[in-house]
Amino acid sequence: MKILLVLSLILTAALLLISYTGAADLIPNELGRVMILEYHKIDYPEERWTRTPENFRRDLETLYAKGYRLINLGDLLDRRIQVPAGTTPVVLTFDDSSPGQFRYVEANGSVQIDPKSAIGVLEAFIAEKPDFGRGGTFYVLPGASKPNRLFNQPEYEGRKLQYLVSHGYEIGNHTLWHANLAKYPEATVRAQVAEAQVWIQRHVPDYKTRSIALPHGVYPADVSWVLHGSAKGTTYNHDAVLMVAGGPAPSPFSRTFDPVRLPRIQAVERDLAYWLNYFDKNPNERFVSDGDANSVTVPAASRDRLRAELRPLRVVER
Ligand SMILES: [Zn+2]
Repeated sequence: MKILLVLSLILTAALLLISYTGAADLIPNELGRVMILEYHKIDYPEERWTRTPENFRRDLETLYAKGYRLINLGDLLDRRIQVPAGTTPVVLTFDDSSPGQFRYVEANGSVQIDPKSAIGVLEAFIAEKPDFGRGGTFYVLPGASKPNRLFNQPEYEGRKLQYLVSHGYEIGNHTLWHANLAKYPEATVRAQVAEAQVWIQRHVPDYKTRSIALPHGVYPADVSWVLHGSAKGTTYNHDAVLMVAGGPAPSPFSRTFDPVRLPRIQAVERDLAYWLNYFDKNPNERFVSDGDANSVTVPAASRDRLRAELRPLRVVER
């Protein structure tokens, strides 16, 4: 009996060691896939579209422990992935500007970020683990009715948008009030997109949203309507269109990377666990950085999967 116990302890220790070194010794593969996580409400109770602050915190801890590091969507689009060698970039996105994503509370005579709101949880975690990186894109609804209009605190709307922009986050376009874009003609679609940017600019002058997340994941009749154009006295230019599902995104260095059809993973317990486990079991499918933003390291056998325009970049095969 005692021997069995000792054996099982040794086995446990060995397994722990394997899983630890497994995470630390990932071989660079910059053609692996990248998770773009999609959060909705950060609130109580945990539901289909709600993650509790505690579970959100746990997601960050798990991602960190498994060697994932935050980048912004813009970094992915620019193929400027500056994370340490052996780690995997991950993108956080938050849709619908619900109250629990960013809340201010008055305490001790001053206004502070609610530590139970997504930004509060994220900032606290980043302060503890600065090497986790920083980033996240908030697809806000500037013209929605309560409670989804710019995080539901009218007196702090501007302060919040300015905070996001000045603290390394991004603001994304999610239309003015979550219009189902398949239902509308070109002029209405363009007005929804342009007006969202105009309303954001009331708080952050000159800010241009760089990407759009489609409400309900529904494309308009012609995707070019949400990409580039002018309406409502402003010009908009989006480099990416985000869907609401579809799994991990292809590497931005891959031929299959299509910024107009970027898939996301809904950050709910089941889907998140599924994909984290998937990449634990299939580490060769995971984007693993070589630590050098100016070179692309790919397995020799995958070289033909690289985008043609990357030829001037230093490609290091392995
Ligand atoms: Zn939405």
